[in-house]
Amino acid sequence: MRIARYTASGADPAYGVVELAEDNGDHPDTITGLTGDPLAGPVHFSGERLPLDQVRLLAPVIPRSKIVGVGRNFAAHAAELGNEVPQTPLTFYKPNTAVIGPDDIIVPPEVESAVDFEGELAVVIGRICKDVPVERAEDVIFGYTVGNDLTLRDLQGPDKQWSRAKGFDTSCPLGPWMVAHLTLAEASDLTITTTVDGEVRQSGSTRQMVTPIAELIAHITSFTTLLPGDVILTGTPQGVGPLTPGAEVSVTIESIGTLTNTMIPTTTAQSGDDDQ
Ligand code: ZN
Repeated sequence: MRIARYTASGADPAYGVVELAEDNGDHPDTITGLTGDPLAGPVHFSGERLPLDQVRLLAPVIPRSKIVGVGRNFAAHAAELGNEVPQTPLTFYKPNTAVIGPDDIIVPPEVESAVDFEGELAVVIGRICKDVPVERAEDVIFGYTVGNDLTLRDLQGPDKQWSRAKGFDTSCPLGPWMVAHLTLAEASDLTITTTVDGEVRQSGSTRQMVTPIAELIAHITSFTTLLPGDVILTGTPQGVGPLTPGAEVSVTIESIGTLTNTMIPTTTAQSGDDDQ
């Protein structure tokens, strides 16, 4: 089941179940509205059913308390930035105010720094949890979505703490929806592809994670409580790079979907660039 958040005709945001024509081909892509919040309790169909192209999709989840990022979880990506693979998972937080949805505009702060894309599998937590053993990790997962761990690369080193480099507003696109039907084993073997203006820049697999999903959940919950709706960004494959003004970045994860966002056409940092 694909669960999205959407708004139609200016109405308040609602959750909905997305059905795609590719599933069985006898209907257009549709969204069927739900009452309530599937991450908070039981939901029911609201009676609204709309063509998917008549709604605006929103970020499928606003994390209740935090996004936990994982740095250098793909060996080839660690190497491309000249870093070692850490002995224990290297984690950081992005605030929930960093989240934007599908097709939203990326607006970096007015600093002289490149915005790098990082396509990643995002794990959505389904229940309050602490000290989760590896063998119980699948029980606390609500589903999976696509994330882009946008990073002000030039500030990441000098700042040391990454609250600005990885936590600025719009630095965490999520979407287009959550997928609740994949098993942990299936989610651990999915291709991740990132394109910029149609050109493939990252091509990897969740199979290549240095620390796999279950071990990440065990590690993170050894020091912090996760709440329903919290999100883990599981690390990026090699191929990261900066986005130019106006660039369109799309992250596709097999069996989940494609998340597309656009860099603001002109930024203060790049206002001298008159190409666009
Ligand atoms: Zn990342």
